[in-house]
Amino acid sequence: MSVVVVNKIDELRNLIKDFRKQDKTIALVPTMGCLHNGHKSLMEKAHSIADVTIISVFVNPIQFCPGEDYDKYPRTLQNDIEVAESAGVSVIFAPSVSEMYPNLNKFSDITMVVPPYELTDIMCGKSRVGHFDGVETVVTKLFNIVQPDYACFGMKDIQQLFLIKKMVKDLNMPVEIVPCPLVREENGLALSSRNKYLSDDEKVKALTISKSLFAIKESFKLGIKDTKKLFDVGLTNLDKNVELEYLEFVDFDTFQKVDDIKSNTICAIAARVGDVRLIDNVILEV
Ligand code: AMP
Repeated sequence: MSVVVVNKIDELRNLIKDFRKQDKTIALVPTMGCLHNGHKSLMEKAHSIADVTIISVFVNPIQFCPGEDYDKYPRTLQNDIEVAESAGVSVIFAPSVSEMYPNLNKFSDITMVVPPYELTDIMCGKSRVGHFDGVETVVTKLFNIVQPDYACFGMKDIQQLFLIKKMVKDLNMPVEIVPCPLVREENGLALSSRNKYLSDDEKVKALTISKSLFAIKESFKLGIKDTKKLFDVGLTNLDKNVELEYLEFVDFDTFQKVDDIKSNTICAIAARVGDVRLIDNVILEV
């Protein structure tokens, strides 16, 4: 069956009503488009657990901070349709900004979903103030529109995954969040739509981000549990021209900072290569 593209909320709801009449289960994969194999792995997972896979392709303006890349974010719907089709997606929901936010010109008119400050005042949330408010708001809207049984999120955006899981639990949302592994290029670089911005030279520098994380993982396996020492290992492996925003160690279950690793810990990096902000992480399993 070929994929159906819908732009209107009402149209999507009508399709969903039909799926529900046929007792079909639904998995949702929220995306901003410019789909790559990382997204594809989420869609394939969705396809394997539910009768119908719906993806959203929406560059969500309210999750971008002033001065970020909202305007230049790559929009590649034709290619996205092909990728989605090859992954067994039934419906692509690609709304306009005014369809999702009829009042966006009056920003303060939008009801927002806001995660706890202590969990956003670290890592990505610290430099991208308000980013996760925008993410949780759009994801809540998508959950309300689609009412999926499952929603797949990548471990690439590990803080986002943690906050979405917490939101669903805290607000009793009737959806199962399905975490999906981070997908990399063969050379180790974490797949990202923003890799499109990198020149060949910048790609070589960007590779040192995953190299640092792998070196940390290796040292951890050799017995180093002190995160200060592991931090230094990471820094030594990072290209001098890569500007580190953070290199943090947080507990896998609580997202609290860790000094001495005793339980599963996320080691996460955000760094800039030229103008391009990239994130990556590994799990240090105890
Ligand atoms: P985005 O389009 O960047 O908002 O991402 C949409 C979803 O795809 C999110 O759940 C991301 O975590 C996930 N994703 C993006 N890149 C990767 C990757 N390299 N591996 C796994 N999941 C990814």
